[in-house]
Amino acid sequence: MRPAVGDRLRRCSACDCWEYGGAPDCARCRVLVDEIVDDGWREFVSREFGMITLKEEPGIAAMVVDEPDRHDWRVVDAAMDRLVCADCGSSLGGGPVGCPTCDRSHGFRYSAVETDRPGVHWGNEHAIRVSVSIVRNPHRTSAADLLGRRAALAPALAGHHFTTEAAQRMGALIKKGATYAELARLFDFLADTADL
Ligand SMILES: [Zn+2]
Ligand SMILES: [Zn+2]
Repeated sequence: MRPAVGDRLRRCSACDCWEYGGAPDCARCRVLVDEIVDDGWREFVSREFGMITLKEEPGIAAMVVDEPDRHDWRVVDAAMDRLVCADCGSSLGGGPVGCPTCDRSHGFRYSAVETDRPGVHWGNEHAIRVSVSIVRNPHRTSAADLLGRRAALAPALAGHHFTTEAAQRMGALIKKGATYAELARLFDFLADTADL
């Protein structure tokens, strides 16, 4: 289950980042991030198709990828995971930068539907969506961008709104070479321990 709006941030028992923020290197965080996408897929499939066999998944996935703008972003990302790129053999969109089919598919994923949860500032779901995509495809971005997205993911999942000022402050810290731990401290006030 992904965090709900207003949930407190928790440390990952494996990497000491905020949960989710240790991905892609921390296996536990990586599983948590993947679960966000897979939960969306399971919910979609059971709602639309009921019980299906594994053999039926690629057909459904191909249909989703044909119309990314008609489906939730988690469903689109999960569908891409379930298809194989004919050019490079990776999961669709997950191949190396420069694979024409993956480059194109990776672009298309951003046309998927993003629905903000009740109670969040406009664009919260977009922030989550981009962070998840980048953390799951780290080879498609710079180290600085990946770090920023990792740092933003857990607070965004908890419904935190990043003002432009806060985002700029974080960007400046990253430019100065800040580590994940230094950035994570900015969100101590959202943590479990803040209430103690
Ligand atoms: Zn972790
Ligand atoms: Zn490819």
